[in-house]
Amino acid sequence: MNKNITNMIADIENEAIYTQHSIGRKAFSNKVMKVIASVQRDKFVAPELQVFAFDNAPLSIGHGQTISQPYIVALMTDLLQLESDYRVLEIGTGSGYQTAILAELVEQVNTMELVQALGKQAKQRLTGMGYKNINFQIGNGYEGWLEHAPYDAIIVTAAADYIPPLLVEQLKPCRKLVIPVGQIYMPQKLLLVEKDKHENIHAQNILDVTFVPLRQSDIEQ
Ligand code: SAH
Repeated sequence: MNKNITNMIADIENEAIYTQHSIGRKAFSNKVMKVIASVQRDKFVAPELQVFAFDNAPLSIGHGQTISQPYIVALMTDLLQLESDYRVLEIGTGSGYQTAILAELVEQVNTMELVQALGKQAKQRLTGMGYKNINFQIGNGYEGWLEHAPYDAIIVTAAADYIPPLLVEQLKPCRKLVIPVGQIYMPQKLLLVEKDKHENIHAQNILDVTFVPLRQSDIEQ
């Protein structure tokens, strides 16, 4: 493993220990950490930010958006308890970094992005890296993506005003949705939402977080 990635992994492990009482675990699964160690985050970051590519911090990806902090990527991925035969919906493709992590772990990833330029760039990047199990869509994540529903897991990587009902509808029973909820510049809550076998919803508050907003607006060029 290169030294930068080794440091990033150590930072994620330390933050997991530091936040263990909130997140209910001292460490993330080996399966998730192995994938985080294998996907090269520098490939998802602009040339001028390469020196920061393995920092345990969010970074700008243009269009006012950010690539998420590696610890948060590890946490959200771990919370979903993914199995290899899962079909996953991701809202907020952004750089495609989280998408790649998911694509390493499950059978099919369906990812939606509101900003056309970001979605296009991520598609090119991930296709160029050889991923064949990802479907891309430009659209509003509040609506979900009916075509491939129902999903075994849903991950939202921008802060929503509320839990989108259509996402809950598109989730299979006994499965999980992880989503930050709250207003911009206010403390947001990372929620783990579970749909039980009777289709009742249980939301668990995991951690205070800071995400860019999940916008209600139209598709952006
Ligand atoms: N997982 C990404 C995070 C990107 S930030 C990464 O690590 O790179 C969140 C992304 O959600 C941004 O790219 C933003 O444009 C997108 N987004 C915001 N509102 C959205 C919406 N309603 N539907 C789909 N994507 C949205």
